[in-house]
Amino acid sequence: MKLNKSIAALPAGYLFAEVAKRVNTFIAANPDKPVLRLGIGDVTRPLVPAVTDAFANAARAMGTKEGFHGYGPDFGYQFLLSAIAKNDYQNKGVMIGEDEIFLSDGAKTDCGALQELFAADATIAVTDPVYPVYIDANAMAGRLGVYENGRWSKLTYLPCNKENSFVPPLPEKRVDVIYLCYPNNPTGTVLTKEQLKKFVDWALENEALIIYDAAYKAFITDDEIPFSIYQIPGADKCAIECCSYSKTAGFTGTRCGYTVIPKALCFDGLSLNKMWGRRMASKFNGVSYPVQKAAEAIYTPEGQVQIEECLAYYRVNAMIIRDGLIKAGIDAFGGVHSPYVWMKTPGDMKSWDFFDLLLNQAQVVGTPGEGFGPSGEGYFRLTAFNTLENTKEAVERVLKVL
Ligand code: PLP
Repeated sequence: MKLNKSIAALPAGYLFAEVAKRVNTFIAANPDKPVLRLGIGDVTRPLVPAVTDAFANAARAMGTKEGFHGYGPDFGYQFLLSAIAKNDYQNKGVMIGEDEIFLSDGAKTDCGALQELFAADATIAVTDPVYPVYIDANAMAGRLGVYENGRWSKLTYLPCNKENSFVPPLPEKRVDVIYLCYPNNPTGTVLTKEQLKKFVDWALENEALIIYDAAYKAFITDDEIPFSIYQIPGADKCAIECCSYSKTAGFTGTRCGYTVIPKALCFDGLSLNKMWGRRMASKFNGVSYPVQKAAEAIYTPEGQVQIEECLAYYRVNAMIIRDGLIKAGIDAFGGVHSPYVWMKTPGDMKSWDFFDLLLNQAQVVGTPGEGFGPSGEGYFRLTAFNTLENTKEAVERVLKVL
């Protein structure tokens, strides 16, 4: 039996396992010292009532003769695709049609699977630091060469750091695909329309594809920051956009998202919309009816008010972290259109050393930047997903240590 050795060759996904190990060891040795977790990337606020009502009603309907639903349409029920096209795009001036949207069980699934569209020897670029899924998925497909000293030999890294204000440089050499994620995980930073336009223009010139992960778009509060790559002219000819209800509406455990592939997106005369549709029809059997009804409820007036209230709660937390650090003279980035704050470690400390310092002296847990890629070394991620009380207390504790 010939195995896919590229999966076996992946470096161990040690980041959160190592964080958990160090935290558990600390708690076992210091049971009287409560630990505050600002490392979590999962939401903590419950689903809003508009969503749970729709979810429960649809689940009950499934138990009736009239309301039962078996297999749904491959790409999503029309009621939800239409709500997405209207509310997330057309009403905001972006002309995406229902037949350009593919519903899925989340952005991770699609960010990981879209590489099936690429040739085996397609070349890939990612921003660095990065959400690891884009790299792992391409590494498993055998595209990235060998992993040595924290780097893949065939992967192009676009470093994002304090020096370039977290605006990635364009690739020096042509690549087939660039993954961009804005608002960014882990740095919490955003790109302006002009900055994003440079990537779109580059992709058009170089006949390259952009996979644009907009999982955190709901956190954007400024019209100057693009909520979609399709606000940039020409992006419909070079970009795929992945979206998620996880952070928008607390769907991390409910599972629903969608991917936009415009009909205008073609390479070598082949339509990516058609190719993805063919692939989805073979490999995916849809998102459950109650979950799609729950997602539809996000777009009702009550749903909108309720999810905005949750987003506002996290935004306040992010601001408390960011402002607290900046006031204390720490370089802190992100946290404005994002639930993530990315800080420089004091005195260029290694990010794992800083992790240990905060855990031992402040009992605050964050995520070492090095775990997100080589350019994350010397940085540290704090998240806004804890309670307001815990966030305030954690920031006070961090500032005391600093
Ligand atoms: N994309 C980014 C950048 C993320 O940070 C996450 C989750 O943390 C996801 C996608 C996953 O989204 P989903 O829950 O829809 O799979």
